[in-house]
Amino acid sequence: MQNNRLRRSKPTLSVVSDVDLDCGPIPCFKPAIGEAEIEAVISCLRSGWLTSGPVGRQFESDFAHFVGGGVEAVAVSSATEGLEIALTALGIGEGDEVITTDYTFSATALCIARIGARVVLVDIDPITFNIDPARVEAAITPRTKAIIPVHFAGLPCDLKALNDIARRHGLRVIEDAAHAFPAKSDGRMIGQNSSDATVFSFYATKTLTTGEGGMITFGDPAIAARARRLRLHGIDRDAYLRTEHTAADWRYDVVEPGFKANLSDLLASIGIVQLRRAWALHEQRAQIWANYDDALVNLPLTLPPKGPAGDIHAMHLYAIRLTKASPFGRDEFIRQMRERGIICSVHFIPLHEHTYWRRALDISAADFPASQDAFECEVTLPLFPEMKPAQQRRIISAVQELLGG
Ligand SMILES: *Cc1c(COP(=O)(O)O)cnc(C)c1O
Repeated sequence: MQNNRLRRSKPTLSVVSDVDLDCGPIPCFKPAIGEAEIEAVISCLRSGWLTSGPVGRQFESDFAHFVGGGVEAVAVSSATEGLEIALTALGIGEGDEVITTDYTFSATALCIARIGARVVLVDIDPITFNIDPARVEAAITPRTKAIIPVHFAGLPCDLKALNDIARRHGLRVIEDAAHAFPAKSDGRMIGQNSSDATVFSFYATKTLTTGEGGMITFGDPAIAARARRLRLHGIDRDAYLRTEHTAADWRYDVVEPGFKANLSDLLASIGIVQLRRAWALHEQRAQIWANYDDALVNLPLTLPPKGPAGDIHAMHLYAIRLTKASPFGRDEFIRQMRERGIICSVHFIPLHEHTYWRRALDISAADFPASQDAFECEVTLPLFPEMKPAQQRRIISAVQELLGG
């Protein structure tokens, strides 16, 4: 934007008129679905093959190629299922302990509890809101088997430190990369697997979406093969295909109790198109991000942190932090924004705030001071590739009006 001196919008919704499209409510997220995605679904419908098949295999191979490094990509029905499958494929289960962050979506911890392992939560770095490696190390016991870091908002975690801890203690690392596509850390794309597995989400709000869906990348083809089996009932069909049987054969063998978490070709067909657009969509996000950064300085808020030079931030969430000098607390700020037709969100409601996790793990806010502080001041502003300049001007004016006075 060449001009950062922005037009003030009217402060209330009562002035909304049907002819001024820019005055309608602005959602926090909006999937970038174009004609090519629609055509791809129609063509899949016409093909007659709707469940997992050739389109899904194409999506997996395109995705693996995109992140590079010769990884195996395994498409799944969601990141939640993907995390559970990755843990299981890596041999983690009953009686084991897995360390993750308090400041995440519940699915990151739920996958651990669902496989009968013990959830161990640790606090975050107060600047990045990513898991604090020092606290991870302090939480390790003889039962610890794995670490699940989350790349909050798309900013890569300190994978070097985490992988170093994991190596020294013989632990697995499974990245929750639900926010981190496309992203790069320390010269490698997230998913290129400096760790044991990386799990991406294609949920409707994420940077690449298939409506619902996910992908796991593995460096080890044997673990990937087990994940492929686990995602579809534990059926070892590949073993049959390798022998005298053919693809047309009716015979299959269940070799372990698996999940039902395959991705249908209908959804994979959307993913193939989204993947082709990934860098263009990232560029649009980067432009909107830069506009916010330029316009929101000198207000009582902290801008989202940037990563080290050379890294790539996926820019999934524009997460501002209101400072003590802000005239409004988080709740009132969000309410005021909503009154102006702008929908903000909060990432995250930390796990210690949820009834189940509080009771199951006997935890409270006092155990996670940095996470609690983050929760109290974080606001996610709308960010989606197709945001119109006029929409962003309205959002910026509203923030300036509320915090600038
Ligand atoms: C969205 C999200 C998930 C879950 O993704 P699904 O594909 O909806 O299962 C997991 N972890 C984090 C951090 C997320 O934001």
